[in-house]
Amino acid sequence: CGVFGIWGHEKAAELTYYGLHALQHRGQEGAGVVVSDGTSLKIHKDTGLVNDVFKQANFSDLAGKAAIGHVRYSTQGDKGYANVQPLLFHTQQGSMALAHNGNVMNAFELRGELENEGSILQTTSDTEVLAHLIKRSTKADKEEAIIDALQKLVGAYAYLIMTEDRMYVALDPRGIRPLSIGRLGDAYVVASETCAFDLIGATFEREVLPGELLTISDDGVESTRFAMREQRRMCAMEYVYLSRPDSDLNHVNVHASRKRMGMELAKEAPAEADVVTGVPDSSISAAIGYAEQMGLPYEMGIIKNRYIGRTFIQPSQELREQGVKMKLSPVRRIVEGKRVVMIDDSIVRGTTSRRIVRMLKEAGAKEVHVRIASPSIISPCYYGIDMSSKEELIAANNTLDELCDQIGADSVAYLSENGLEQAIVKDKTIHQGICTACMTGKYPVKKEKESTISYSK
Ligand code: 5GP
Ligand code: SF4
Ligand code: MG
Repeated sequence: CGVFGIWGHEKAAELTYYGLHALQHRGQEGAGVVVSDGTSLKIHKDTGLVNDVFKQANFSDLAGKAAIGHVRYSTQGDKGYANVQPLLFHTQQGSMALAHNGNVMNAFELRGELENEGSILQTTSDTEVLAHLIKRSTKADKEEAIIDALQKLVGAYAYLIMTEDRMYVALDPRGIRPLSIGRLGDAYVVASETCAFDLIGATFEREVLPGELLTISDDGVESTRFAMREQRRMCAMEYVYLSRPDSDLNHVNVHASRKRMGMELAKEAPAEADVVTGVPDSSISAAIGYAEQMGLPYEMGIIKNRYIGRTFIQPSQELREQGVKMKLSPVRRIVEGKRVVMIDDSIVRGTTSRRIVRMLKEAGAKEVHVRIASPSIISPCYYGIDMSSKEELIAANNTLDELCDQIGADSVAYLSENGLEQAIVKDKTIHQGICTACMTGKYPVKKEKESTISYSK
């Protein structure tokens, strides 16, 4: 998912709409905005793409100087309208809207506790759980109540919470999900990725820190911690495939890191070949890096139909297979009679690689050498990326030779864990560390509760 927020701008809802466009790649199942005019909150949201959702929006009905927005793809919770965010709640003490990227690992247990105490929840989204926890907190002060509630969560999360007169911004204690703050004139802007700042002409100010809670109001920004400072564990998959190449995460540009992944991969696993090609869009940067390092030509051997959404958005395997077929086509004249290196950013189920190897061979490629610009995915993600069952992971259930056989390639090689880390954390003074749990099985957050600190203002 992707989140966007803005405080202190006359055109808050419109700018959120633009910001969500820049974050569209992070989720295509639903989109929405909640705007505050200082006395009440208004919502516009629906299932579908940002453009479709906002076609029906009347921005004059969404007047106000603060807004939060969300694009959704479901990892937990059902698809469908009820779970589209932001979620909006009304109470006698005022209203509250929430938007969330990530996954709360103990959401099921927390729901159970809430239900035992008499709460009835409307959605299956873990975001609603946080809203209830905030409301139920015995702390009178809103900020303290939010801290109280956040301290009950275990997992990876970037939260935007808005009331009539405040916006709260929170990042999980390990900083697994990305979240940055920017400025647009006097306004404050928050987004999952910095590409949203570029689109609206905002400037990047800084990353939200792990375990940090920001309170934004007309008085400015206040920062406090709700959790002990832990080593940052930004999701490596954000660099590998999820984020946009023009975004900077933790001061590292995504395209540049992908290119380095390709270069490291060429050093580790060179292939005797004539031409290098990448699977558009997310693998092109790595393919360019691989080609440059090898001294081979980078060519557009595969093209993408840009009117078809990301394959992983499709809910079933059948639809996914069909999706890949409709989405990617070989460029026959480029690959015919050639030994082709096909770079992909990652293999999850193997659908893409299998289909593309076949496609390239049918188009006349003499050999197809598959090179993957990240380590093999062998373990599920519990932190908000959709690959949650081990049975689905082709690398978890096959040896490299079996996998090579299954996808029909002449050879297969992955980037090493060290190579990935080199490519992302190129400068340890500016980058504090990554999560690679799905590739290594080393989980930075276990289901047991993380250590927390008590709140002091
Ligand atoms: P596969 O086709 O092996 O299931 O998925 C890998 C390919 O799809 C890669 O090209 C990657 O860009 C994209 N992809 C689709 N869904 C996911 C996902 O959940 N995680 C990752 N890492 N890549 C995905
Ligand atoms: Fe990202 Fe993998 Fe860690 Fe999940 S387990 S947060 S996908 S690196
Ligand atoms: Mg891809």
